[in-house]
Amino acid sequence: MYFVKTPHIVKPLYPSAKWRVETNEKVLYFTFDDGPIPSVTDATFEILDSFSAKACFFLIGENVERHPDYITKYAQNGHSIGNHSFQHLNGWKTPTAEYTADVVNASKSIVSNLFRPPYGRITRKQVKELELKYSICMWDVLSGDFDPTINVDRCIKNVVDHVEPGSIVVFHDSEKASKVMLAALPVILNQLKNQGYQFKALTENDLL
Ligand SMILES: [Zn+2]
Repeated sequence: MYFVKTPHIVKPLYPSAKWRVETNEKVLYFTFDDGPIPSVTDATFEILDSFSAKACFFLIGENVERHPDYITKYAQNGHSIGNHSFQHLNGWKTPTAEYTADVVNASKSIVSNLFRPPYGRITRKQVKELELKYSICMWDVLSGDFDPTINVDRCIKNVVDHVEPGSIVVFHDSEKASKVMLAALPVILNQLKNQGYQFKALTENDLL
């Protein structure tokens, strides 16, 4: 079970985590988790490019290690990156020392002060450790692209119906999500662009 729109009752559980960017401007922050997966990530770059859209990619250290030459591509394409841990551990099931060590391990190849916990599952103790060095970046809109039970239209509606100025939206440039995500993304970008939205790459400064 998951929430498409993060409910207000969840947010106070992690007071230092960021759920959206404070702004009244029509700006959206699209984020793509779990890459790099070159075939999917390249296709994502192409779609974003065709709308002059920028985004932030939360990378998994293991995937960066498999594709070491890939890490320079994000900045080259005008996108930002964040740390999404090395092994994609579930914080609720992982002792704090092991969890933070895994994030530090990922930081050797992923240079960023943004961290997004895998599955959004992180304990308060883990937040306390990691917030010393990172902005903990959650989200307020989940596209649901990873959910095998939803179709492309549902994914489009999940995003288009729930964004507001400053929303942080989650997609996945993973193998599993690619079929729905790559079909939904151009439609979402087109509809929201027509509503006057711009798409920017999230940085630490946006979350201050
Ligand atoms: Zn993830």
